[in-house]
Amino acid sequence: MQQFIRGVIRKHFVSSYLANEHDAAVLPIETGAIAFTTDTYVVRPLFFPGGDIGKLAVFGTINDLAMVGAIPQYLSVGMILEEGFSIETVNCVVDSIQKATIECGVEVVTGDTKVVERGKGDGIFLNTAGVGIIKHRLAIEPASLVEGDALIVSGDLGRHGIAVMAAREGLEFETTIQSDCAPLAAMVQDLLKYGIHLHCLRDLTRGGLASALNEIAISAQCSIVVEEERIPIQSEVRGACEMLGIDPLYIANEGRMIAFVPQAQALRAAEVMQKHEVGRGASWIGKVVGTDIKGSNGHVAIKSRVGILRTLDFLSGDQLPRIC
Ligand code: MG
Repeated sequence: MQQFIRGVIRKHFVSSYLANEHDAAVLPIETGAIAFTTDTYVVRPLFFPGGDIGKLAVFGTINDLAMVGAIPQYLSVGMILEEGFSIETVNCVVDSIQKATIECGVEVVTGDTKVVERGKGDGIFLNTAGVGIIKHRLAIEPASLVEGDALIVSGDLGRHGIAVMAAREGLEFETTIQSDCAPLAAMVQDLLKYGIHLHCLRDLTRGGLASALNEIAISAQCSIVVEEERIPIQSEVRGACEMLGIDPLYIANEGRMIAFVPQAQALRAAEVMQKHEVGRGASWIGKVVGTDIKGSNGHVAIKSRVGILRTLDFLSGDQLPRIC
């Protein structure tokens, strides 16, 4: 096991903390606040167009830190392997983790590997936890929403879920749909640098845009209206969704977020986002309203192309399992 950890896993990471080989990493941290989060990744297949489980495990945790405006710094990586799982594949996954951490400017400072008996796992599961530092003084959270806030989405929706689904089921579309899997932290830092008063951010992972909006509306006790025709969705994704009978607004994305900003800063915020590759398709899609169509709070409505309002609800059940 020691040999395996050193020879297969550790060799990918250059870190003085790991080199210390102690029970815990002692991390210097600037004063202020830190953000701390964790997530577990069980996606199947492990490799899909535009990404793989390693990239996902790094970007997913980085993005959760970014959603509170933190600058990601340190990561842990926990790995559960099933006995007999290919060492070559472990190498590919760990290599992908390492490349993703370099891309994000973060360091893996601690980790763990466990092997379970054959038949008691499913090849490989990953868990990452992350620590980031917070330098801003905003409260980037649902409670900060106010009536009139503009809602901006960072780009087109649905590609991650469809890319994984297509790879899993061997579906072929005219062009290969690539996952949107990407880190969002640099774009969020830029929004802060340009003085955008971010009221709330949320990455659009499991459950997609519709679930994120409902979660926020409920916790902020406000109502949100989105305009259907302004939501960016690639035509290939739209076609795939029609074929599979799923709604793109509920599909998981891994490199997309929404931002609630003061109405007066909406244009500026979208412009700052568009400067980044991950925000190229940033678009204003809706707003926080006072009284909604139901006259209640905690409600999300969608305005159709012809101006009809309907409720955009939570999805009952998991539309696409094992997607992240
Ligand atoms: Mg999240």
